[in-house]
Amino acid sequence: MRDPGEALASAKAAADRIVKAKRLNAMLTPAKELRKSLDQQAKAAHPSGVLYGMPVAVKDNICTVEFTTTCGSKILEGYRSPYEATAVTKLKAAGALVSGKTNCDEFAMGSSTEHSAYGRVLHPLDKHRVPGGSSGGSAALVGAGAVPAALGSETGGSVRQPASLCGVVGIKPTYGRVSRYGLVAFGSSLDQIGVLGRSVHDAARVLSVISGRDARDATCEDRDPLRLPTVPESLQGFVIGIPKEYFPSDLDPAVRRACERAIRLLRELGAAVREVSLPHTSYAVPTYYIIAPAEASSNLARYDGARYGPRFDGQVDVRTLYRGTRGAGFGPEVRRRILVGTYVLSSGYYDAYYRKAQQMRALIAQDFRNVFDRGVDLLFTPTTPTPAFKAGERLADPVAMYLSDIFTVTANLAGLPALSLPIGRIKGLPIGGQLIGQAFLEDEMIEAAYAIERVFPAVEEA
Ligand code: GLN
Repeated sequence: MRDPGEALASAKAAADRIVKAKRLNAMLTPAKELRKSLDQQAKAAHPSGVLYGMPVAVKDNICTVEFTTTCGSKILEGYRSPYEATAVTKLKAAGALVSGKTNCDEFAMGSSTEHSAYGRVLHPLDKHRVPGGSSGGSAALVGAGAVPAALGSETGGSVRQPASLCGVVGIKPTYGRVSRYGLVAFGSSLDQIGVLGRSVHDAARVLSVISGRDARDATCEDRDPLRLPTVPESLQGFVIGIPKEYFPSDLDPAVRRACERAIRLLRELGAAVREVSLPHTSYAVPTYYIIAPAEASSNLARYDGARYGPRFDGQVDVRTLYRGTRGAGFGPEVRRRILVGTYVLSSGYYDAYYRKAQQMRALIAQDFRNVFDRGVDLLFTPTTPTPAFKAGERLADPVAMYLSDIFTVTANLAGLPALSLPIGRIKGLPIGGQLIGQAFLEDEMIEAAYAIERVFPAVEEA
């Protein structure tokens, strides 16, 4: 049991740090509202909770009752959810302080936060660069030291990619490990809430609290919350696979150097390292960009002006209401996804695109099973093909933006847990390495990450 006054001091300090980081545009909750809520939460928090007094910021596509939930979109401007996400309820029950809502790409579609209707988030180390996305607000706040951890969401890499770019730890759990209740749906078969933390331990302990069964989400597995492993002395007994498809000949040489150094350290820690192959990897990005928009086009049909948020005024009939609201409310990337999704699901194209993508998804998942069945415990890869890129650089070319996810979308398609942690710097900018684990074996993945984190020269130039 902690000192009951501790949370109040922690709440005040967190609010001060978040306000100080205002220039990053990472926080969507106004300062006054944030301070007031943090104070109230601190008074209500029970000192016996395992996260007592810990400030945790929450991505704005996760429903909260104390703050608005806009998903970075104009179509939900000012929207206040009548219920809260199970993950948020569990955080509060553990004594954590929900520290405002973080900026993100609209409906979590993007890799830079440049698709937010509320302006882009600045990279904490270089204002001309992006923090990654879509959970870029969460990553930037953790990276700037404003909060020790934040919730993000993953459909194709939105926790790991910004974690890599901001030099923090990002964990995407196995599909079904954490309840999706109250996570605004993007691609329901891919979506999971994930955690960003300044260390493996901070991210892991938040994940452990939000994990576990929930009767309100039928896709959430009936399992106990994740148990945290202890920090191991070595990686003796671990077999780590290096998938050759994640190290293409045109990989950025500095990213390759950082990974090679990491692999040497894995060996020094006692792990057995072996090259493996995941032959369908090159189909992952096109597969993802059929399945995710298909599901999004269906999920986003509910924003019609009749149910949520602001509506287009001056309607004469229901069609004009729908068209006016959606036309004014959705940004260009969301519109692009709805169009692509509707197209690939339409009769005549369904077999050519959507069905093929589903078949490919099964092959990608099978690739992983084949490797794990042959005694490999974990895979190690780069998290992102480059460090943080300049704002504007990929905005005009959606495919260049989509390729930021090349190493992350596979774990979502296969439903596997994956983690990004800092493995060095490239010209001063952080770069992450990724561990991909077996379904529901997050504990092994976290154990390896603990060992790696302890010895890695995370701020050393690659
Ligand atoms: N960047 C990817 C996309 O735009 C992934 C997003 C996510 O994981 N939410 O779809």
